[in-house]
Amino acid sequence: MVFETTSAGDDGIDEPDDSALATALHQLNTAAEYVDVDEGVIERLKRPTRVTQVTVPIERDDGTIETYTGYRAQHDDVRGPYKGGIRYHPDVSAEESVGLAMWMTWKCAVMDLPFGGAKGGIVVDPYDLSKRETERLTRRFTEEIRDVIGPTVDIPAPDMGTGPETMGWMMDAYSMLRGETIPGVVTGKPPVIGGSEGREGAPGRSVAIITREFLEYQGRDLDDTTVAVQGYGSVGANAARALDDWGANVVAASDMGGAVYDADGLDTHAIPSYDEEPNAVTSYDAPRTLDSDALFELDVDVLIPAAIGGVLTDDNADDVEADIIVEGANGPTTTGADEIFAERGIPVVPDILANAGGVTVSYFEWLQDINRRQWTLDRVHDELETHMLSAWDEVREVYEDKDLTWREAAYVVALQRIGEAKTMRGLWP
Ligand code: GLU
Repeated sequence: MVFETTSAGDDGIDEPDDSALATALHQLNTAAEYVDVDEGVIERLKRPTRVTQVTVPIERDDGTIETYTGYRAQHDDVRGPYKGGIRYHPDVSAEESVGLAMWMTWKCAVMDLPFGGAKGGIVVDPYDLSKRETERLTRRFTEEIRDVIGPTVDIPAPDMGTGPETMGWMMDAYSMLRGETIPGVVTGKPPVIGGSEGREGAPGRSVAIITREFLEYQGRDLDDTTVAVQGYGSVGANAARALDDWGANVVAASDMGGAVYDADGLDTHAIPSYDEEPNAVTSYDAPRTLDSDALFELDVDVLIPAAIGGVLTDDNADDVEADIIVEGANGPTTTGADEIFAERGIPVVPDILANAGGVTVSYFEWLQDINRRQWTLDRVHDELETHMLSAWDEVREVYEDKDLTWREAAYVVALQRIGEAKTMRGLWP
């Protein structure tokens, strides 16, 4: 079933203010004031092209049948095929997928990748399912959305609750249905079936690269920088470990089980990431443990929220003591918190730039798949560095030219590119 989300287009939607969609729309409206883009184009960008809703029945291991709901929201493809992750989480909804898809459109445009934005997922707690059940769910979901995805149409990738194994099943299901091996239909696959080296660590690595550049821009020394990382999944752990390796002092890390703190710096490689052992951060032997939420109040130089969306709100933004916030998760800062940070002079380096290493290495993976040629990890790291630095330079130039926040500057870069592409292509028919 395909339907249009009527609520996605107007600002009077029945969404709580802190939802991904409401936040994304608010950010679009704010940034639109600073770009020279036709108002009609901005109106179009407030709506997704389409949202596909599917029913996904599977047989559980005990023989019973359970039915799930899945979505694929495709926001915009003026610059290339739709691109974005697949999320397995109980909070997945059509509206959330649209908000997250919008962020993918801007993210790909900031990075100047030839992709548009999409996001999707299944309303499910993946930890309730066995591995075989997750595989059946993934294969059936792929079958249900096969007509709206494809290597030149819409290319899914991992997101919350999914990973390389999920992408391997999606690639296999799609290929079996089409009768040929089509690795470029998804990215984030295991390297042995066409995945890219360095893809899994890429979002965290880009967070570390942007943090390093930002500190240098502010004339700070990485060696004298303290960092707190909220969430120790793929993004948080990889960002923490890269920053630690490059000389920063990562003093705190958290997951849902709690937080650990060491003023002398944690051994980030010794703390189990979520993939290594879920919610085991506090099993690390640290001088101090804290409640997860207390991590936000630590007096550190850099705070990296790297878990889920909407965690920095107008309820806790005043308690944040960090000098700089670098967004590792998608949408961790609500509109209210963003305003408080702007008033307090705390720069927020936005997700669409900071964690864009994931989709950037997805782009490299897609190129490798099309060319049937594997790149080395060194090449992936070199090219990622080049792409991140050039996007950083462009955002920094806009930031310096206009009196904007970092988020607004990143949006201006993205919207300008998308607006120009829409103008050059014109309106069909
Ligand atoms: N899910 C990731 C993100 O939010 C990656 C998307 C992709 O690689 O397509 O950026």
